[in-house]
Order: sequence, then C-alpha cells, then structure tokens
Amino acid sequence: MAPTSPPDVVVVGAGIVGIAAACHLVEDGRRVLLIDREEPARGASFGNAGGFAFSDVMPLASPGIMRKAPKWLLDPLGPLAIPPSYLPRIAPWLLRFWRASWPDRVRASMVAQAAMMRLAREAMAALVGRAGAGAMVHSDGALELYESEAELRAALPGWEARAKEGIVFEHLRGDAIGALQPGLAPIFPVATFVPGWQTVEDPHRFALALLDYAQRLGATVRRARVHAVTPREGGAAIVLEGGETVEANHAVIAAGAWSRPLAAGTGDRIPLETERGYNTTLPPGAFDLRRQLTFPGHGFVVTPIGGGVRVGGAVELGGLTRPPDFRRSATMLAKAQRFLPGLRAEGGVQWMGFRPSLPDSLPAIGPSRASPRIIHAFGHGHLGLTQSAATGRIVAALVAGRRPPLDIAPFSPQRF
Ligand SMILES: Cc1cc2nc3c(=O)[nH]c(=O)nc-3n(C[C@H](O)[C@H](O)[C@H](O)COP(=O)(O)OP(=O)(O)OC[C@H]3O[C@@H](n4cnc5c(N)ncnc54)[C@H](O)[C@@H]3O)c2cc1C
Repeated sequence: MAPTSPPDVVVVGAGIVGIAAACHLVEDGRRVLLIDREEPARGASFGNAGGFAFSDVMPLASPGIMRKAPKWLLDPLGPLAIPPSYLPRIAPWLLRFWRASWPDRVRASMVAQAAMMRLAREAMAALVGRAGAGAMVHSDGALELYESEAELRAALPGWEARAKEGIVFEHLRGDAIGALQPGLAPIFPVATFVPGWQTVEDPHRFALALLDYAQRLGATVRRARVHAVTPREGGAAIVLEGGETVEANHAVIAAGAWSRPLAAGTGDRIPLETERGYNTTLPPGAFDLRRQLTFPGHGFVVTPIGGGVRVGGAVELGGLTRPPDFRRSATMLAKAQRFLPGLRAEGGVQWMGFRPSLPDSLPAIGPSRASPRIIHAFGHGHLGLTQSAATGRIVAALVAGRRPPLDIAPFSPQRF
C-alpha cells in the first residue's frame, strides 16, 4: 500500500482474529490497516494452548460445568475461581451464564457452535494452505483422560450430543490409552480420543506467519491505541489516543477482551468479560508428549508446543486489571507432574492470558448498531484460535456485502 492511500478497512486489534480477518480482506483486494497498541499477537493469541478444537461445540455453561463448579469454586487455586472483590462486578455476567446453561439455550448454542466449527475447520485448512503454514499444524488428535468410569459416564451426554453433530471420537480403555500416550500415571482407566483435533507448533509464531502472509498481500500494521470507533458518512473514523483520526470505508473491532468499551461507543452494550487463563511452558525434552492431553476433572490441558510442553488452562473470572496470580500456573504444573510422572518441570515460563468471553460461549460477529460499516469480531472465549479463519471469512463477506458463509444470527452482537 502506498503510504498516502487511505485504508479501505481498519482492523482494530492484531490478535489472531484481527490477523485472520486481515488475511481474508486483503485476499478480497482491500487495503487493510491493522492497528494494535502492542506488537502483533501479544494478547490472548500469544500463549494459548494452540488447539484447533473443532469438536468443542458444547457451551461452557453446560450442565457438566454447572455440576463441577461448586466444588471447583471451593478451591481458590482450582480450575474455576472468582476473586471475591470481583464478584459484584461480574454478577450480571454470571446470571446470563447460568441462564445459558438451561437445556433449551445449551441446545441452541451447540447447534450454532457446531455450524461455526464446520466452517472453522474448512476455512482454517484453506487459509493455512494459502498462507503456506501447513508445516506448523499437527494432526495428532487429542486424548481426554478420565480418572474413573463414573467420570466418563457423566461426560457421555456431551459426547452423544457431539455425535449428533457428526463429531468423531472413540472411548478407549487399558492398553489402547498407553499406546496413544506412554508414560501416564496408572490412574486413567478410560479415555476419549478425538482424531480430528489439531494443534499448532506455537500459537504466537502461527499468528505471525498469517500476519506475514497478509503483509505480503499488502496489509500494513500500525502501533497505536484506539480510543474510539465512530461512524462517518460512508465509512468509519478510528480515533487514536492523542486525538489523531484515521478514516476508512469500514472498521472491524477485533480487540479481544478489550473490545467492550469500543463496542459501547457504537451503541452496543455487550456483556464481554474475561476468563483469565494460566499456563507454564516447559522447554524441549520436558516429556515425550504425543498429542494434546485433556484432564476434564481438573480443567487443564497439556500440549506439545515449540518442541516443549505447555501445561495450563483454568478460568479466573477476575477482570482486566488485577495482576496475575501465577500460583495457578504452578498448581496445574504440580498436577501435571502427578499425571505424567516423568515430566521434567524445570525451566518453565509462566503466562497469563485474557480470554474474551461472552456468557453463551458464542462470539459476537456482525455489524454494529451504529453502522453496517463498523463490524464486531470478538468474544471467542476458549476458541479464538480455532474460529479465527471462519471469523475472517465472515468479516470479509460482510465488508463486501456478500452473504456470509453461515447464518450469523446466533452470533449477533445485539443478541443480549
Ligand atoms: C490459557 C489459554 C488457552 C487457550 N487455548 C486455546 C486453544 O487451544 N484454542 C483456541 O482456539 N483458543 C484458545 N484460547 C483462546 C484464544 O487464545 C483466544 O480466544 C484468542 O486468542 C482471542 O483472539 P483475539 O484476536 O480476539 O484477541 P487477542 O489475541 O487478545 O488480541 C486482541 C488485540 O487487541 C489489541 N487491543 C486491545 N485494545 C486495543 C485498543 N484500544 N487499541 C489498539 N489495540 C488494542 C491487543 O493489544 C491485542 O493484541 C486460549 C486462551 C487462553 C488464555
């Protein structure tokens, strides 16, 4: 892009969602400017678990989680935590979350999520291919490990519901589990293997590879904090901190967990909160990990990342400003050592990330109330990496005035 040509589209936020949107927009021939207050992909997209979780179609607010939540909440360093001082602030979100766990809502949310995941799988494979990033994606499946037959039995309704959506999996016992992952403590009599699950080599490097592709096609990146996005005749004005305004024909708000005030400026009051997640990344040689392992009773996963091992997950409903409590990373690492006795825990790097989460576990994708030229694309919760390419495809269609590749009504930013 010549420095003087104004952008067709400004994408606010260069996380994986904004980057994937930029990829699809430049492929459509648009002049795209990505604006981020930090280096690209330093938010949630930096240190996540790297999974393409196409089988994760159950909303978090499911009967299973509601059953586990009371026990989890009793442990301040457990898989689910709410700092007491944040409780009044998040109470309205929790109320919506609870409502989202009712059977009618769970069913509706799951149908929408399954449709999104079908698109996500196809759009991601296609984008990875075009960007030449195929070598960064591993198709090893994931293994979910249960400590008892009763634990699996409790999970069966969820698996049956997934089967109806065409998701392939297999319940395994005995040696079949050890064949897929040697070195497990002998405390997992039963497991579920999901062959369609994929992981990326490293989510940060993956995001940068997609950004590099977008830049090769002409996208540009600028470092600035966006203060507001407002409609203008025939376009949008992106107001930067300090007062400078960038004008464009369209704007996309893809600022992850920080999107709420920007959306509010376009007339959309969206109950976006953050589910803070924690992990520790161990260096190469930490463990011979064959694929992603999930410990559903403990709310964390162990993933091969960058030749090493990333141990983490958990949900802390604690807002955007409280400092991280890395005892959470340490707690999960200690559990992982119990479950994988040969795990070498030294040399780890701890991280905390802000998942952008809506109470019904569906993202907000669609035009803003103020203008069809300002498009929201945030709120992907635990699934932003997985759904980034699908979101990019939808955003590009909306900008072009094409019919989106799936019914976006369930993802409407105005649904709350
Ligand atoms: C521990 C953990 C594990 C996870 N594992 C997975 C997984 O395995 N698979 C999966 O699919 N998802 C996973 N996720 C979720 C995933 O990381 C997020 O859904 C996804 O990264 C969100 O991407 P994003 O682009 O919307 O947000 P972000 O990556 O957070 O990007 C938002 C960007 O907006 C910028 N920004 C914010 N406000 C402004 C402003 N005012 N002006 C300019 N720039 C601004 C920020 O600097 C940031 O770069 C995980 C998350 C966590 C925390």
